[in-house]
Amino acid sequence: MKIGHLFPDLLNLYGDLGNIRTLQRRLEWRGLDVSVENYRLSDEIDFSRLDLVVLGGGSDREQQIVCQRLQTIKDDFRAYIEDGGVVLAICGGYQLLGQFYESSRGRIAGLGILEIDTVQHDRRLIGNIVLDSRLIDQPIVGFENHAGRTNIYRHEPLGKVITGYGNDESGGYEGVVYKHVIGTYLHGPLLPKNPKLADWLLQKARQRAGQTGELSPLDDRLEHQANQAMYHRLIK
Ligand code: GLN
Repeated sequence: MKIGHLFPDLLNLYGDLGNIRTLQRRLEWRGLDVSVENYRLSDEIDFSRLDLVVLGGGSDREQQIVCQRLQTIKDDFRAYIEDGGVVLAICGGYQLLGQFYESSRGRIAGLGILEIDTVQHDRRLIGNIVLDSRLIDQPIVGFENHAGRTNIYRHEPLGKVITGYGNDESGGYEGVVYKHVIGTYLHGPLLPKNPKLADWLLQKARQRAGQTGELSPLDDRLEHQANQAMYHRLIK
């Protein structure tokens, strides 16, 4: 399996790199082949060679730098997604999947692949967050820190907010799911504490690559304890 990490030197906040490590390790632990390709802004990206694409979070300044490059890859990226390509996009990366991010620096154009948009507000939404998602039978736990409020219109959210803010402070929902794309505000990093979500992504990528059968189970006792510890700390 080939994982493409887009612009890790710019989009990588609050341990987002841990998501790549988790995906990599969970394949290695099962004896499956995996390689990670880190792309810098100037690198060519051949999406047809990738099974999973990860975009991390970034500050407004970094998003502005990345945005110009995204315009040059958006057709290929869209084709990959429409073909069922798997994507995990965190926070700043999530916002960039949409039409635009309106910030105090002006309007940052997104990839326009999803019909969502984000507008910055003065007050940042910061704190731990718990979601209930239809994708997995385990609460999703994480940490959010964003000034943007995202409107996902008719798209499906990643989950219902049990505690925390999510896409905006009042809507009650967090993130987005489209085909095999997950966009979310959750850092943490997200995947170490949410192993079932990591396996959801890996399973979709394997299916798309024509590999049948379920992923073999791993000893996830520690991961489940980490998830439960956060859940019980936040939900009394
Ligand atoms: N700059 C964006 C915001 O504040 C995204 C931040 C992030 O990736 N944590 O909304």
